Amino acid sequence: MTAETAPRRARIGIMGGTFDPIHNGHLVAASEAQIQFNLDEVVFVPTGKPWMKDTVTLGEHRYLMTVIATAANPGFNVSRVDLEREGATYTIDTLRDMRKAYPDADLFFITGADAVAQIMEWKDVAEVWTLAHFIAVSRPGHALTISGLPEQGVSSLEVPALAISSTDCRNRVSRGYPVWYLVPDGVVQYIAKHHLYRSS
Ligand code: NAP
Repeated sequence: MTAETAPRRARIGIMGGTFDPIHNGHLVAASEAQIQFNLDEVVFVPTGKPWMKDTVTLGEHRYLMTVIATAANPGFNVSRVDLEREGATYTIDTLRDMRKAYPDADLFFITGADAVAQIMEWKDVAEVWTLAHFIAVSRPGHALTISGLPEQGVSSLEVPALAISSTDCRNRVSRGYPVWYLVPDGVVQYIAKHHLYRSS
């Protein structure tokens, strides 16, 4: 088979995050990564129990908000791999599971630059590099500056809409401020229906 006749390998984005809640910055980042890296599909993977975090909203709520937020886009999907695995979530396990699901694809792990900056401390980091290319997304002026990352393995992507943050969305809800237009409409309604992020 010549290079011209070989089938093109699929290119799959894996959007890893806590998504507590998912917001429009995440969606713009995924869409931008899809265009810039020519991805066939972006699979959102809400973390199970995030490494180093004691309290996050129930995984099922975060999963359903992610499904609601991505439902209208045929190029976006959601995976439960991290939610269904026991114990803390490590990216090495996410990537091994996604490699099994997409054995012949090139994988691109998309997440916040702040999270990627900690990558050298991640479990099995040497194998992590072999499984995916990393796309570190940040708001303008906060690009990834960390030494020791393999140049081939990580790309930076500036996304102005990432001025929105999950922490800010949670704080606004707890203080009674609206999150319309910061998160998708269906997510606004889901948060209200399930009384999420209200201060006790
Ligand atoms: P985080 O520390 O809560 O987030 C760090 C920053 O990145 C925040 O500003 C966050 O904004 C942003 N961010 C997170 N996910 C994003 C995404 N997909 N797109 C754009 N911005 C994003 O990070 P986290 O959510 O817990 O973890 C992110 C991913 O890294 C997850 O898949 C997690 O499993 C993985 N991770 C793995 C290890 C490990 O293997 N040891 C350690 C840490 C993280 P928002 O709060 O607005 O999202």
